Amino acid sequence: MEIREILARHAFGFKKKYGQNFLSDPNLLRAIVQDAGVDENTVVLEIGAGAGSLTRALAECARRVVAFEIDETLRPVLEETLAGVKNAEVIFGDFSKCDLAALEEKLGEYTVAANLPYYITTPVVMRFVEEAKRCRGITVMVQEEVAARFAAQAGTPEYGAVTAAIARRGKCEIVRKVSRTLFTPRPNVDSAVVRIEFGERFPVRSEEAYRNVVRAAFSSRRKTLENNLVNAFRLSRKQAEEALAEAGVAPNARGETLPPEQFAKLADILTDRNLLR
Ligand code: SAM
Repeated sequence: MEIREILARHAFGFKKKYGQNFLSDPNLLRAIVQDAGVDENTVVLEIGAGAGSLTRALAECARRVVAFEIDETLRPVLEETLAGVKNAEVIFGDFSKCDLAALEEKLGEYTVAANLPYYITTPVVMRFVEEAKRCRGITVMVQEEVAARFAAQAGTPEYGAVTAAIARRGKCEIVRKVSRTLFTPRPNVDSAVVRIEFGERFPVRSEEAYRNVVRAAFSSRRKTLENNLVNAFRLSRKQAEEALAEAGVAPNARGETLPPEQFAKLADILTDRNLLR
């Protein structure tokens, strides 16, 4: 049965405030499951079950799927679309408010796969990047422009603090472009599937120092990195210059030109010199 027909029969009204743009194309759903590397050993966490089309496709290949859905009016729809799917469970509630540590206890090692509601894309991804302990990777559908920011290379306009934070957790790539015509209702922009494979790419002595240095570097994009460091950590000009020189960074460089590995090096140097206040 077509998702659209089921939704109509339940008199479901799409809610823009929840970013409800549903998928139904079976080829695309299968492709996302593949992009996420789901197999019979995988526990999947989905954020935003919607009408359950992706939940169902994931459950066909995964060991177990746990999905969050904020909209209670989807309960009868999901009861119908997931009828007989024994390895999928929907938790009705706001994912942003859930206790991630407790959820991880329940899931063990897991993979995130989702067609994310666009209004919380970055906070949701950042939550896993910064807090998750047992997440193996994230494969999410996001707006194309957000995907470009997540996977950007240093020195491009899309590169920013979020890119550097994601890079610290793993390898990020755009694996698929998805036309807006494949969503119901149709959004105004195209989307892309992004995959972040968790695993350390480069060492850093303190995660907190890395985060603080990245935040400082992008605090004002018009200023040089040196000026941003001076302001953020109340350094003398000489202290900033020496740290940058040791990290091999040009004195007038801007934060957005530094690859993540170089932020890590700079964070280590500033930590060693006890300059991060
Ligand atoms: N997975 C479905 C699909 O692909 O067809 C639905 C995707 S739709 C883009 C996003 C879903 O996330 C919506 O069903 C929406 O109600 C739900 N949602 C929005 N905010 C949420 C939140 N904070 N916590 C849990 N679910 C949320």
